[in-house]
Amino acid sequence: MSGKEYTYFNSCRSCGSREIKHVADLGRMPLAGGFIPRSVKKIRGEKRYPLQLVFCKKCALVQVNISIRPDTLFKYYYYRSSVIATLVRHFEGIAARLAKKFGEPKKRFVVEIGCNDGSFIKALRARGFRALGVDPARNLVQPLIKKGMPILNTYFTEKLARSIAKEEGKADVIFSSNTLAHVEDINDVFAGIAALLKDDGQLIFEVHYLGSLLKETQYDMVYHEHQYYYSALSVSRLLRRHGLELFDAELIPIHAGSVRFYAQKNRAGKRLETARLRSLRKKERHENYGLVSAYEKLDQRIRKSREDLIELLEKLKKNGKRIAGYGASGRATIISNYCGLGRFLDYCVDDSPLKQGTRMPGVHLPVVSANSLYGRKAPDYVVLFAWAFSREIVQKHKKFVSRGGRFIVPLPHVRFTR
Ligand SMILES: [Zn+2]
Repeated sequence: MSGKEYTYFNSCRSCGSREIKHVADLGRMPLAGGFIPRSVKKIRGEKRYPLQLVFCKKCALVQVNISIRPDTLFKYYYYRSSVIATLVRHFEGIAARLAKKFGEPKKRFVVEIGCNDGSFIKALRARGFRALGVDPARNLVQPLIKKGMPILNTYFTEKLARSIAKEEGKADVIFSSNTLAHVEDINDVFAGIAALLKDDGQLIFEVHYLGSLLKETQYDMVYHEHQYYYSALSVSRLLRRHGLELFDAELIPIHAGSVRFYAQKNRAGKRLETARLRSLRKKERHENYGLVSAYEKLDQRIRKSREDLIELLEKLKKNGKRIAGYGASGRATIISNYCGLGRFLDYCVDDSPLKQGTRMPGVHLPVVSANSLYGRKAPDYVVLFAWAFSREIVQKHKKFVSRGGRFIVPLPHVRFTR
């Protein structure tokens, strides 16, 4: 696809079926992470791409139907897991559990797809595992490779998997966190996993869970980078086509509600399906994850949340109130562009010094520090884009509230914090 900026799919990217149903249309959207640096004085040529969510009636996979050229998204990647303390602890915890399970880590080979800046690879090596990471982000992994970390700076493909298997041997564990929603050719990646995994090995992967998107109307998690929204139902069907099967699934609280899937080859010596996987499947059946009706309702809820938010902000603006946003993340990009919040908000607060001084993609609101909540031009109302952390933020800014300021939570329903 060289030269073309994106590919449009009118069939399912997992099973190839043309029986796909449009679930939601978020309009033309800039890249969620495309914050504009302070050094750019005049913004021109900012790109926007269609952003639509579709549902495959045949395999139940929910997906974005365009794919932006991977190098645009991932060659330079600014998300670092090592700066998020909870994630570092998360990876150390998994490495510890694997070490306990295997007894002799030195004899085990673990491959991580999308190793980001190496937090999990470091944790594995500290436990004695032989580990190998794969990641296309040059800026993140080249410095680690120079330090001698076992990382390949490229995309994980079937071809690469076969060459790893040949040179390093097959893997006891293939792990991936928050990456398998980002790959363009999902079948190539899963074929690679099947080729690299030992017959008794296991695939462990963490992804944002479709159930969280549905339950909390998290349309703000729908970005071009997040190409798939997995359920146990759709994952089972995808795995089956590659000779793999689920045997366990665990809901985990990271990244707005994720799920950790455990899969194996469907051969001899299989692990039995766990009770928690059975209960997750039951829940998905009960809530109709395999039927179009579940997604029609989602579309209605997304539209309703936008109408309610605009109605409230229009009213506040008419009464001369000043309004700001809080939490300049990708999620803020999606909400503010989808709802057209540029005309209501003066700026967006973010606690990260790296974000401060930039402008938000699409709406171009300046990103400033939390001091702005207290200055002469303090806002009367603040839209909490980081609504998953509303309790912590409100706690931190009690003074803003005691001076009469109010926080607005935009999702799942528009409301004021108490
Ligand atoms: Zn499909």
